Amino acid sequence: MVILISGPSGAGKSTIIKALMDRHKNLKLIKTFTTREKRTQEDDSHFFVSKKEFEELINSKKLFEFENVHDDIFYGTPLSVLEEVLEGKNNFIKDIDVKGMLKLKKFFNGKAKVFTIFLDNNDQILAQRLKARGESEEMINKRISRAKMERDYLDEYDMYLICDDIQKTVDKIEDFIGFENFA
Ligand code: 5GP
Repeated sequence: MVILISGPSGAGKSTIIKALMDRHKNLKLIKTFTTREKRTQEDDSHFFVSKKEFEELINSKKLFEFENVHDDIFYGTPLSVLEEVLEGKNNFIKDIDVKGMLKLKKFFNGKAKVFTIFLDNNDQILAQRLKARGESEEMINKRISRAKMERDYLDEYDMYLICDDIQKTVDKIEDFIGFENFA
């Protein structure tokens, strides 16, 4: 089983992913390769690489897909992990933009169970959270306008959730997916 979570920056995707992984020990993160800066020195939620390293990953066909999500900041899914997903020994979760989600959904069609969730919040709250995270005004605006584009794809998702309370959001996701699928 694979859970794909999309939604604007600041919606709470990382927090919800972490909460779900804390509760379900066989839920593994599909880590993203990215050229974005780490938010904290200890941040190991992504594989952080330089632009040159990212280009090498593309050229050596090590990425299943990638997107230039925020004006020159790249994010991509490692190809190697998909084999592991198909083995079916563990469940997986991934933060991914709408375009990447569509590609992964197509890839897993008929091979693995996929649940797609769009986590959202209103732009004012998103902006507040991004500011608290130390993002510049320019970056906040870029991320908010990206959110508007991503909402055009809501029909492609199995579930749409406003993430205003972590526990309630986790409960709703678990109810929707069903405990049998987490086993
Ligand atoms: P950030 O968290 O840096 O503000 O924004 C990251 C954006 O890139 C989010 O929209 C997230 O869903 C998306 N993203 C993260 N990992 C991947 C990936 O591997 N592939 C694609 N296509 N998008 C990703």
